[in-house]
Amino acid sequence: MINFTVGEPDFNTPDYIIDAAKRAIDAGHTKYTASAGILALRKAICEKLKRDNGLVYSPNQIVVANGAKQALAGAILALVNPGDEVIIPAPFWITYPELVKLAGGVPVFVQGGEDFKITAQQLAGAITSKTKAVILNSPNNPSGAVYTEAELRAFAGVLGDVWVISDEVYENLIYRGKHFSIAKVHPKTVVINGFSKTYAMTGWRIGYSASSVEVADAIENFQSHMTSNVNSITQYAALAALQGAEGEKFLEDMLAEFDRRRKYMVERISKMRGVSCNSPDGAFYVMVKMGVSAEELLDNARIATVPGEAFGAAGYIRFCYTVSMENIIEGMDRLEAYLKGV
Ligand code: PMP
Repeated sequence: MINFTVGEPDFNTPDYIIDAAKRAIDAGHTKYTASAGILALRKAICEKLKRDNGLVYSPNQIVVANGAKQALAGAILALVNPGDEVIIPAPFWITYPELVKLAGGVPVFVQGGEDFKITAQQLAGAITSKTKAVILNSPNNPSGAVYTEAELRAFAGVLGDVWVISDEVYENLIYRGKHFSIAKVHPKTVVINGFSKTYAMTGWRIGYSASSVEVADAIENFQSHMTSNVNSITQYAALAALQGAEGEKFLEDMLAEFDRRRKYMVERISKMRGVSCNSPDGAFYVMVKMGVSAEELLDNARIATVPGEAFGAAGYIRFCYTVSMENIIEGMDRLEAYLKGV
């Protein structure tokens, strides 16, 4: 079985981060921390947001959470009241509609085009008097699509009073183009980011939100009663991740390897019969349009994939290239051989 379903880097967390965690244990950083996270980390996150994204926040606007996932949950629970509509461009990450429903909100899906993106006009058309927020995710899971600065500025132009929850966890995994945070042009934005993808830290469970002080207070309140602070050791590891000079090189190497795999897969798929795919600009996913189901691929080609229906993209199958090149080659061989026979 070749497993193309895993949405996490197949790289180990860099040693400089692991070493910082060991040092934190030895230094006795084993107690409760502030619910929103240790001040040094929130300061380092502010510096990162300034340096990388041109965004100005103070530490009381940052809430460190158990992964970007909890940051998203906090933002949605803080903003969305029962009956509120939340616009979700499709395809989308499967957690978004579930969290909106958990808050009593109503997910409103807007279907992206062949490039998996929606337009400002479509966004404007979906806004009603009940719209509370839109959830944007660029680069996108599952499509890899990246919105340009111009497209995001156009969104800001039609949003008016509507909040944006901007999930930017894949910001550093971009092969073409440049990341732009809509928070720069739309102040009513909650930025969601994390360490899982950039630093291969999925198991450590750490992410954060950056928002207005009022929203940050609400998010912190929820979190303090539900889970308290993020694991104290993990917070020191994340602090080291942001501060260490080694991070840049790690990311560069990981990105180069993902890019190599991305290009290889797209090239192989483009030569196969009855299937097609875009060349994704970011993240580590390829959406392949095909008449064959994920179940058939599992049974007949021994490759595991995720059906597009789950992400609001029927007719597509998601392949993650977070597996070794060797396995990608074998997986593509199997896919090709199977498609020749159907
Ligand atoms: N947002 C998106 C779009 C994701 O794909 C993921 C991970 N699959 C997350 C958020 C959650 O990441 P974390 O590990 O930081 O909770």
